[in-house]
Amino acid sequence: MSELKIGATVHLTNGMTATVKKLLGEGGQGYVYLVSVNGKDMALKWYKSAPSSSPDKFYKNLRKNADDGAPAPMFIWPEYVTQYEQGSFGYIMKLRPEGYYEFGQFLIARQRFVNVGALLTTAIEICEAYKALHAKGLSYQDLNDGNFFINPKTGHVLICDNDNAFPNGEKSGILGKARYMAPEVVTGQRMPDAYTDKFSMSLILFLVIYMNHPFEGAKVLGHPCMTEEWERKCYGSEILFIANPQDKSNGPVKGVHNNVIARWPAFPAALRDAFVREFTAPILQSPTKRLTEQQWLDILTAVRDDLIRCPYCGKETFVSQTKCMECGKTIQVNNVLVIDKRKLALTDGNMLFIDRDDTPDMRVVHTAQNPNMLVIQNLMSNEIEVQTTQGQIRIVKTNEYLPVKLGLQLKLKIRGYQYIAKIQ
Ligand SMILES: [Zn+2]
Repeated sequence: MSELKIGATVHLTNGMTATVKKLLGEGGQGYVYLVSVNGKDMALKWYKSAPSSSPDKFYKNLRKNADDGAPAPMFIWPEYVTQYEQGSFGYIMKLRPEGYYEFGQFLIARQRFVNVGALLTTAIEICEAYKALHAKGLSYQDLNDGNFFINPKTGHVLICDNDNAFPNGEKSGILGKARYMAPEVVTGQRMPDAYTDKFSMSLILFLVIYMNHPFEGAKVLGHPCMTEEWERKCYGSEILFIANPQDKSNGPVKGVHNNVIARWPAFPAALRDAFVREFTAPILQSPTKRLTEQQWLDILTAVRDDLIRCPYCGKETFVSQTKCMECGKTIQVNNVLVIDKRKLALTDGNMLFIDRDDTPDMRVVHTAQNPNMLVIQNLMSNEIEVQTTQGQIRIVKTNEYLPVKLGLQLKLKIRGYQYIAKIQ
């Protein structure tokens, strides 16, 4: 099967054509070209050889996915499929926009998140994306570090290589990428499905947050020549979490795993608890008991609620650490905004995120007259209905302020949802 020539035309199943303009990249499975479809620049993935042992099934599945559309906006999803021609086939997708970099670039420190807030946006968006994909009855089956493109300034994520997304329980024919597969897939006890996806997703979340692989500590470092047999042990039958509190034999090594050594104690305990639960016995060996995407979203939202700007130095720190991680000053929280089980610190300079997107909905500032008098500014396009302890109602419009005063109740409307928040 051959490479396409510049200027060549391929036919799409919907009757349109794509004209090849330029080779953008080449991988083991195929080529990616810049093509023109109806005058619009798009990307074409063109398979070098049959992408599966049953290419007909693969092709049909690809067409169905294209017809059904992307489960969430983060996916660079197959939009059109080509006809079987010139000995192969391919699919059309959107081009990756400027400002997004391969996740691998972050792992080798060529790219860095601008701040912890952006990092948390990435983690949250990954969970949202796979929650939507699994809710559609699909499983991804090949979740690995190569799937993600991330904008380091905003934390926004794009997910590519979606051609192995199959209905949950159906085999795409691939097992996944070494180092990212669930242990039960490595040992051959289970084929990739939504539960093994959850393991790989938690592994990616660990990488995003701590920037080291969760199962590559001292023990794995001791096998510089990774044979297939060692690989089956290190990632399968004898898999051991780098931060396992009981067995530290695969713990992080100074000078090699510095990121996790520094970040593990710095990030909130809720994250440590979640990863220890996921990556140690008995949950590690119980695929169906793994955390759901929604449970991860709740944990990550709580971590973002915990993240504030230090009122003294302006750097990011966690409220739960009590002392600022940067300047060491004690941060006193006099009032919090309570929404259901969530608590948002009302400290000077803090941005308040009510829904899960990365746009702040309110912010806390001090008044010009009194540096100790805090107010909340409404940054939303909707107004806030504020009820005083005496039951009086006041409307706070966009960019207007309300005082940080014990007992005030706020009614917020964001994207069709209503939130009731109370100052405590
Ligand atoms: Zn500080």
